[in-house]
Amino acid sequence: MKTYARHPIAFVRGKGCYLWDAEGKKYLDFLAGIAVNGLGHSHPVITAAVAEQAAKLIHTSNLFYNSSQAELAALLCKHSFADKVFFCNSGAEANEAAVKLARIYQKGKKGPDCFEILTMEKSFHGRTLGMIAATGQDKVKKGFEPMPEGFRHLPYNNLPALAAAMSDQTCAVLLEPVQGEGGVNYPGSGYLQGVRELCRKHGALLIYDEVQCGMGRTGKLFAYEHSGVAPDIMTLAKSLGAGLPIGACLATDEIAAAFQPGSHASTFGGNFLVCEAAKAFLKVLLEGGTLSHVVKNGAYLVEQLRGLQKKHLFVKEVRGSGLMVGVELEILAKPLVERALEEGLIINAPQEKVLRLVPPLIVGYKEIDQAIDILDDVFGEVSGRGPA
Ligand code: PLP
Repeated sequence: MKTYARHPIAFVRGKGCYLWDAEGKKYLDFLAGIAVNGLGHSHPVITAAVAEQAAKLIHTSNLFYNSSQAELAALLCKHSFADKVFFCNSGAEANEAAVKLARIYQKGKKGPDCFEILTMEKSFHGRTLGMIAATGQDKVKKGFEPMPEGFRHLPYNNLPALAAAMSDQTCAVLLEPVQGEGGVNYPGSGYLQGVRELCRKHGALLIYDEVQCGMGRTGKLFAYEHSGVAPDIMTLAKSLGAGLPIGACLATDEIAAAFQPGSHASTFGGNFLVCEAAKAFLKVLLEGGTLSHVVKNGAYLVEQLRGLQKKHLFVKEVRGSGLMVGVELEILAKPLVERALEEGLIINAPQEKVLRLVPPLIVGYKEIDQAIDILDDVFGEVSGRGPA
């Protein structure tokens, strides 16, 4: 079905930060499967984990215990606020689980009318019917009305608006600590602390969607660690499986206990294969110095982009922490994405005037310099400013 506006390119092979198309042309991948391939392509640790597990056992069902799932859950809990994990297959599903968990918990605690979830304008939470209702962008809802009830959108980074919207009937606040699809928007200082305080005051749950910004992307394992404000529930997907499809909904013991056998389920959720890939990825992230590499190389990428900003005046702002970087423009981004692609650099535009760079977390200075050279040329065609 025509659900995607695809580029006329088919990739056949990948290694590290590079991809090759069917004609043999080489591309530098600064999109990484849309913030998925944390260790790039064909990383030997992931390849070995998947191959070994595939030869042993891929799937049973969630009617039986699964040691790979238990070990992955233990690792995620050890390194986060959470005590329990539910596994599914995607970001949208992880958010569905989070919303269902928040609702069933609050119904037990505060009664049947406590179901409203407040989410943010420009947010993105997935494409299921529930998650297009949760998403604060009209374009994803258009044509699919009526929307499921119980979601209201508020401006991001705006505590007075949130304070005015909250009541003791608010079930939860759901937000991305860093908005991805909305244009790579970072929280202002004190924002998450303020949201937490309002949730505490009204007995509402705080849910973080870290599907895009989690798993090392911003230089910490989870983006919320920058603020020190932990949520009650958090969702992960995208890079969690280093390219394999897995999602997760994490929660504290008290909240997780609201789910009982029969409350929620997923046939494939957390099968052996995807859990072994995620375990292998997490171990590299935690043990291999990858996070400090992300901080250092992310700062270098942002610095280089700010250099381009000085030269090409249509570049309005460069936003980034770690390797989650947005470049806001005064012109449309799409033609630049197309030109960069022709020159062998893969990036994308999550909003009309924003470029997004989310390279593999293993990206080095050499690849960053190469990407900057291509962007300088492409920007120069528009700004009329050639090499300095
Ligand atoms: N949440 C966030 C923050 C996302 O960026 C995305 C996808 O871009 C999703 C949820 C949906 O994830 P999926 O496409 O795996 O359902």
